[in-house]
Amino acid sequence: MTSGRTWKLYAAAMALAVAGYQLIPENGWWESCWEVAIGYAGTAAIVLGVRRLPLRDRLPWWCFALGIWSNATGIAVAIYSAEVLGWSDMPTPSDPFFLGLYPACALGLGLLIRRRDARRNWTAMVDATTITTGLGLLAWVYVIHPAAQDTGMSILGRTAQVAYPVGDLLLLAMMTRLLRTGGSRGAPFWWITGSLAAFLVGDTTWVVLGNLGDLGAHLEEVLWFRRGLDEVFLIAFTLFGIAALHAGARELGRTATPQPPRLGKLQLVALTTTSLIAPAILATQLYHGEITDGPAIVIGCTALFLLVVTRMAQLVRQVELQSRQVRELSRTDELTGLPNRRAWNDELPRALEHARRDGAPVTVALLDLDHFKRFNDSYGHPAGDRLLKEASAAWHGALRQIDTLARWGGEEFIVLLPGAGVDEARDVLARALAATPLGQTFSAGAAQWDGAETSEDLVQRADAALYAAKHAGRNQIGTSLPGESTRVHMRSSA
Ligand code: GH3
Ligand code: MG
Ligand code: MG
Repeated sequence: MTSGRTWKLYAAAMALAVAGYQLIPENGWWESCWEVAIGYAGTAAIVLGVRRLPLRDRLPWWCFALGIWSNATGIAVAIYSAEVLGWSDMPTPSDPFFLGLYPACALGLGLLIRRRDARRNWTAMVDATTITTGLGLLAWVYVIHPAAQDTGMSILGRTAQVAYPVGDLLLLAMMTRLLRTGGSRGAPFWWITGSLAAFLVGDTTWVVLGNLGDLGAHLEEVLWFRRGLDEVFLIAFTLFGIAALHAGARELGRTATPQPPRLGKLQLVALTTTSLIAPAILATQLYHGEITDGPAIVIGCTALFLLVVTRMAQLVRQVELQSRQVRELSRTDELTGLPNRRAWNDELPRALEHARRDGAPVTVALLDLDHFKRFNDSYGHPAGDRLLKEASAAWHGALRQIDTLARWGGEEFIVLLPGAGVDEARDVLARALAATPLGQTFSAGAAQWDGAETSEDLVQRADAALYAAKHAGRNQIGTSLPGESTRVHMRSSA
């Protein structure tokens, strides 16, 4: 039987079994047996699915199987202790089994999250903590704190009662964290999420029923409603099994680089809502005229505030980093890695200002490869690209450390030579010319700043000197001193 059919058959059979739960005789043994069977079927499905996974992917699934098995076994132990032992006061022997679901599944989820994320994802952690803190405060005020104070119960009974909402919070934290992992989001990812959500919805409904008083007690007695609620847990058992049997389970443990933190609409709503829980509880208690959970609200508010600030700091840091990267990119020539024209245009006025202050000379030179079109035509455009890269690297090595070489555009480059007059500049450029690879040459025009002209005028003079050098037969360096006519130097004269 192919795996493609196994999960469908299993899903279909379980859909019938879950629906059929509404129709069985109204009897505790019948109901419990039915539920346990579906729970064990879920466990068996996971065990079957796990064996098809690579060894290193199996551990989380064993944890899930253990969790489901433990919870389902709790149902059997509960009916036995209630009907046979007459033991239904908390804690019952079934509680450890029911509760086993939480640590086992949380451990499995933790392992899965670690496998899915290539590195630690602090933003995801902050988001999960924020949501858990907000709902945790809600659970504390309305469930955990009252349960802990229930004097009608033994210490162990109270501990067991408190352990359920705490377990739910643990699962919630892991679920929200799982939702923020990178990696594949195939069907099994959503089935596991759905299963966790079902457990949480089921547990929360029980709590809400308990708090509804008479109405809750009444609803519990409505057969189809009570069974419907049981079915939520049966669906949770089953979804884990389907996830394990699906071929996509293999992808679930695949490592991926987490995406940069996003803040979608849904996330923003979730974060905002959960952050507002603390003040909402405070407002409610103020309205009722008695603050019963002051310290918890203070701690919750503080934690939420710090988490939001942390999240904000993370976002700001991310924006800063990205804008630095964008700026860097916008100022760099992609092919040669040199500063581009934009970066150079920013640099020149600064350099002229320095020269003005220091009274030092400064020279600007334009370089243009000779007959580059011919080179392209003979050896192809990619070879031309390689020449541009290699030549610019060679020139960079031949220039002085303080000189700035930038790509001006096409096969033209520009050099800033601070502290150099034209004569020194010519010597430096002659070294660069000699270093040009593949027997190629360039022509250059160097102009020394006159101390007053604009950067545009200075570049203009360098261009005129370059033009003269090209005119004089290429492979030479033209120079332009302030107030003098352009001179052209043969390479041999350098
Ligand atoms: P001259 O000696 O007069 O400078 O002649 P030239 O052939 O070097 O100059 P021209 O302006 O006629 O041609 C420049 C050529 O440079 C044309 C263009 O296709 C090529 N070119 C410009 N940018 C690139 C580039 O990034 N890569 C490559 N491979 N070729 C480029
Ligand atoms: Mg050109
Ligand atoms: Mg050229």
